[in-house]
Amino acid sequence: MESNDSVESLRAEHEALMHFLYLAPVGLVQAGIDGEIVMINPISAQLLMPLSPDGCLTNLFTALESVAPDLRLQCEQYPRNNGMVFEGLHIHLRPDERARTSTPQILSLTLLKLDDARIMAVIQDVTAEMRRERQLRQSDAWLSAILTRITDYALVALDRDGRLCDWNDSIARVTGFDEHVIGSPYSVFYPRDAMTDEHLLDRLREADKDGWSMDEGLRLRADGSQFWCSALIAPLPDREAFGDHPHAPAYCMILRDISDKRAATEKRRQAAFCDHLTALPNRRAFFEAAQLELDRANHTPRALALIVFDADNFKRVNDRYGHPAGDRVLCDLADALRETFRAVDTVARLGGEEFGVLLPSTGIEQALASAERLRLLVSTRLVAADGVEIAYTVSAGVAVFDGDAKGIDVLIARADEALYLAKSQGRNRVAAWTPELSNHENPPQRSRDAG
Ligand code: GH3
Ligand code: MG
Ligand code: MG
Repeated sequence: MESNDSVESLRAEHEALMHFLYLAPVGLVQAGIDGEIVMINPISAQLLMPLSPDGCLTNLFTALESVAPDLRLQCEQYPRNNGMVFEGLHIHLRPDERARTSTPQILSLTLLKLDDARIMAVIQDVTAEMRRERQLRQSDAWLSAILTRITDYALVALDRDGRLCDWNDSIARVTGFDEHVIGSPYSVFYPRDAMTDEHLLDRLREADKDGWSMDEGLRLRADGSQFWCSALIAPLPDREAFGDHPHAPAYCMILRDISDKRAATEKRRQAAFCDHLTALPNRRAFFEAAQLELDRANHTPRALALIVFDADNFKRVNDRYGHPAGDRVLCDLADALRETFRAVDTVARLGGEEFGVLLPSTGIEQALASAERLRLLVSTRLVAADGVEIAYTVSAGVAVFDGDAKGIDVLIARADEALYLAKSQGRNRVAAWTPELSNHENPPQRSRDAG
């Protein structure tokens, strides 16, 4: 009984692997140590067929004999019983091979020895992309996906709108979702609010443009629990074969549970990107996230808002209650920010008593309303510190990306000008940037004295 189960689970693993190999956007061939082909996916068949002397693909070494005659020897002489025999070997096809079909000029071949009996070849047409550094990173990403234990990932096919179009065991294994998930957008794997519709399409466009799109973060299982995951989306190279049916597979997505790796690197990331006092992202993390959002907005115009919050008369809070009490107030403000904003917004401590919030897909009205909500929230709470209760307020400046604020610096400068206006109008209020604010002769300085 038990051995039946393990056979069954092995069979399922094998099926998942086959699925993976079939959908991978690179050519993959599994062969015996003598080159006899055991499995070949459609892309490899397409790339290798024109090279094969007899038109049938039974042996990898024979198929590549005319362009890479010493593969068999290299494999035989490889001293270890598993590992990379070579990586990214460029095979330049001779003109007569090119003339026969529309075969690419340059193939990249990577050969892995899996064990004493099996090898795996990864084949890519690198003619067009050869000069692109990104292409190298793509094959790295795929190799690491292949070399990771196969239980680590879920493989999902997406239609052209990013909706799941099939279901398999690997999805249940990693995410716990059942067949009913078919037809949902892939954001179903993301925590609520962590992805906008525009982000969802951005990833698909990135994949179209660069050949892949990868992100890393907390993802959602069906039971609501979260796990640290890296997700790779790549367009299916043969998607035209499916016709232009709207629900035909157009992309594949690989979700990998990388909680272990995450735990190991967490400390380093924390140190580099996290503010010690409030545990919010720090200025550096904010600028990275903001630049990414700005690039996206520059590429595909959409609303993007920035709010800068600054605690009012904070020096007085420190002077009256002491620096540690001031710290408590800053932590309370950080909590209020976390409570108020969506997961898709980037909330960060920019420095001192100043905080920034970047709101993707958000226009000025909505941003002003959110800023006002935060302002109101903090104005009604008291922070307990050393037996006293401290009331505090914040002011906010809001600016929206309008296509001509090229860098994040400009957007921040505008939000700052609006913040200065809020301060000069009496504090504990929210102000929006307008072009007039930047037009006066002596632009406001950063010092904002109590008045
Ligand atoms: P305004 O309303 O114009 O913003 O007045 P302000 O007093 O808040 O502004 P100012 O820039 O004069 O003072 C900021 C104060 O914030 C001074 C600094 O000691 C305090 N501060 C900066 N970082 C920290 C921190 O990490 N902890 C504490 N407790 N205080 C901090
Ligand atoms: Mg202040
Ligand atoms: Mg300040």
